[in-house]
Amino acid sequence: MIALHMIAPEKQKSPPAAGAPAYSGVLLKISGEGFCPPGEFGIHREQLDRVAGEIMTISQLGVQIAVVVGGGNFLRGATHAADLGIELATADYMGMLATVLNALALQEALERQGKQVRVQSAFQISRVCEPFIRRRAIRHLEKGRVVVLAAGTGNPHVTTDSCAALRACELRANVLLKATKVDGVYSADPKKDPSARLYHKLTYNEVIDGRLRVMDVSAVDVCQQHNVPIVVFNLFTPGTMRRVVLGEDLGTFVGP
Ligand code: UDP
Repeated sequence: MIALHMIAPEKQKSPPAAGAPAYSGVLLKISGEGFCPPGEFGIHREQLDRVAGEIMTISQLGVQIAVVVGGGNFLRGATHAADLGIELATADYMGMLATVLNALALQEALERQGKQVRVQSAFQISRVCEPFIRRRAIRHLEKGRVVVLAAGTGNPHVTTDSCAALRACELRANVLLKATKVDGVYSADPKKDPSARLYHKLTYNEVIDGRLRVMDVSAVDVCQQHNVPIVVFNLFTPGTMRRVVLGEDLGTFVGP
C-alpha cells in the first residue's frame, strides 16, 4: 500500500476540529538570518534554541515537519562571488555548504529538546548526513521525525526558496511556511517606510506580477502550479508558527 506522503491538500478541505492543526504536513523554510539576531552573522545559541523550540511546538501538534534551511547568515553566492572574485557557481556551492552548517546545528538543537531528526543533503556528504531520498524522507516524516533538508537543491544559480517550493511539492506538504523577520508581506519595506501596509491575503499572481518580495518568483510559480499555499510569518514573535499551523489568520497567506 502506498500511503507515503503527507496528507494531500484536497483532503484538507473541511475545517479542522477545534484545537486540531489546519495542516497535517508542513514545509518550513528558515533563512539563515533565523539563526542569529537581526544584523548579525553565524549561529547564535539563544536564537538556535528558540527556533528549535518553535518547531517543537508544532511537532507536539502531530504535524509532519520538513525544514529547508538557508545559509545567508554565512554566505550568499551572488554577493560573495563578486567580493571574493570567484565564479558564481563556486560561490553558490559555498552557499550550499553554509546551509549544511545550519542544518547540523538545528539537528542538535532539536535533539536537545527531545526530538528525533534526520538531516538529508541534496549532495553527498555521507560522513555527516544522509543523502536526500524522497521516499526515505517521507518515511522519516511518517515516523514523527523532523527532516532537515540541507544543501538546497544541490544546483547553483538558485536559492533555498526554490528548494523549499520544490520539496514542498515533492513531499506533498499542505503548506509552505516561510519564516521571516517581519510580520508578513508588505507594500514596502516596513523597516524603512512607516506607511508600509501588511497584506493579509494575496494570490500567487499578485505576488508574481507585483514582484512583491515574498520569495523568488520561480518558487512562487512552482507553488502555484502545484497548488501549495504559502504563509509568510514572523519567526521572531514567539508562538506565531504554532498559531499559523492551528489556522489562525496571521501573517500573509498566498494562494489561488
Ligand atoms: N544556493 C544554491 N543553490 C540552492 C540553494 C542555495 O546555489 O539550491 C546557494 C546560493 O548561493 C545562496 C546560498 O546558497 O545564496 C544560501 O542560500 P539562500 O541565499 O537561499 O539562504 P537564505 O537567504 O535563505 O539564508
